[in-house]
Amino acid sequence: MYGKGLFATVTRVTSTAALSRLFCRRMASESVKRFDFLVVGGGSGGLAGARRAAELGASTAVIESHKLGGTCVNVGCVPKKVMWNTSTHAEYLHDHEDYGFQGAKAHFSWQIIKRKRDAYVNRLNHIYKSNLDKGKIEFIHGYARFTDDTEPTVEVNGKKYTATHILVATGGHPSTVSENDIPGANLGITSDGFFELESCPKRSVIVGAGYIAVEMAGILSTLGSKTSIIIRQGGVLRNFDALISSNCTKELQNSGIELLKNTQVKSVEKNDKGLSVKLVTKDPDDKDAEEKLESVHEVDCLLWAIGREPNTAGLNLSQIGVNLDERGHILVDEYQNTSRPGIYAVGDVCGKALLTPVAIAAGRKLAHRLFEGKADSKIDYNCIPTVVFSHPPIGTVGKTEDEAVKTYGKDNVKVYTTSFTPMYYAITSRRSQCVMKLVCAGENEKVVGLHMQGFGCDEMLQGFAVAVNMGATKADFDRTIAIHPTSSEELVTLR
Ligand code: FAD
Ligand code: NDP
Repeated sequence: MYGKGLFATVTRVTSTAALSRLFCRRMASESVKRFDFLVVGGGSGGLAGARRAAELGASTAVIESHKLGGTCVNVGCVPKKVMWNTSTHAEYLHDHEDYGFQGAKAHFSWQIIKRKRDAYVNRLNHIYKSNLDKGKIEFIHGYARFTDDTEPTVEVNGKKYTATHILVATGGHPSTVSENDIPGANLGITSDGFFELESCPKRSVIVGAGYIAVEMAGILSTLGSKTSIIIRQGGVLRNFDALISSNCTKELQNSGIELLKNTQVKSVEKNDKGLSVKLVTKDPDDKDAEEKLESVHEVDCLLWAIGREPNTAGLNLSQIGVNLDERGHILVDEYQNTSRPGIYAVGDVCGKALLTPVAIAAGRKLAHRLFEGKADSKIDYNCIPTVVFSHPPIGTVGKTEDEAVKTYGKDNVKVYTTSFTPMYYAITSRRSQCVMKLVCAGENEKVVGLHMQGFGCDEMLQGFAVAVNMGATKADFDRTIAIHPTSSEELVTLR
């Protein structure tokens, strides 16, 4: 193959100097650097896997095309949580007078928090680089692509690298809408663009009904942007337990966000006052319903939050025998093996439970399997706890009520719910309910699902997730003495 390829190129080259330059380039690119473990993607999963492999003695390299830390650190969890923390301050400000702090007025500066947030992210980028150095992991900066070589090999900036084991942890990017489908769609931004905003938008329109739409609508609205959410169906977070989906939809509306149900964007136009977003609303359950057209004007932030796509397009994966699903996610088995021996994948690029701790755990477990001989090292994709940083936050682990009924049958599922006003709001004019649900299955009422939304539920979940993962029953919850006065005590006193 090498000879044939070279001949084909040589025949096109005329001058001797050009021929010799071509030979040198070829020779250089043909020297392949070899490692035990080569990781493509320096995000949550890739870095965790690489560091653990290096600790276990593997010679390791990480290839990253952008910034170390990936989505979570640069355009995800970290800057998002800074903004959520900022917006919770804005909420507390409303309560200051109720708590006796009179005349507490504060001017909010988006520029200040953005500068501090960017500096924090920058510090993390350096910490990740220094961790690689400390772990004696080679850092290769550039975009990796698999070559057609017989042995799995990647090429970065004209140089080739191979390894006994290659991990693909290239994550994903926000989905966008084509201009053909929605004229003017490109005038909007995605979550990546949200982190570039230099000031708080005055008028925001957010399209989507998942984690990012709910979180960013909450942040923007709480920080003073007049915000609308455009959802295709009747509620947000439809994959969550019905209690959470309906309560979160209600909370968004109660907080002053305009929520337009059964609505889609038809077109977007720019004029001297900002964007005009044309919307079409139609109830899908009412066949005779007429389409309603309306527009939102003077929009300075149109944000598409409609899911994410895997970063696999430019990797040449199909050609080397790595199977992908119809959306381009890498297909892996429970041990993160792809269809090509010696190539593995973890994290968002696999399209399952797109969460940082999942990517990290999968990367580490894989390293233990490959470099410590722990043949059974794999993560359990059941019962993954997750928090939506909405206002108030949502915490959920395990099966929804509907999933439990499907799995165990209606007669074998018992559900306990409660709704109350957390004590924090007992003396404030601003009020927000806390809702909780325990989903129990079988005669011994094993807790198979726990869902809640309310003040403090984000920090409340982790400990309860341990109990649920250990197989705790309702009786175990009941036996636990409550901590008073807290919201979490409600979970051990449900009747
Ligand atoms: P990534 O972190 O995306 O890393 C992949 C890396 O690969 C990137 O740095 C990319 O530049 C690099 N790369 C891609 N292609 C190549 C190539 N060919 N060559 C070299 N490098 C390449 N999760 C939570 O658990 N909690 C949260 O609160 C949370 N909030 C989020 C908020 C937002 C706005 C978003 C977008 C996501 C959030 N997530 C959150 C999800 C979380 O960020 C991801 O699940 C996590 O980052 C996935 O890690 P990963 O290693 O799979 O991919
Ligand atoms: P999600 O998958 O959470 O939600 C996207 C939703 O947008 C869909 O469920 C769908 O809802 C709606 N949608 C899809 N296409 C369109 C369209 N063309 N027009 C209008 N609405 C559409 O994706 P996100 O982008 O919000 O987040 C991606 C992932 O990142 C999450 O799944 C999560 O795993 C992770 N993440 C985690 C966070 C955390 O842990 N706190 C925070 C942020 C992200 P419907 O079908 O109801 O219309």
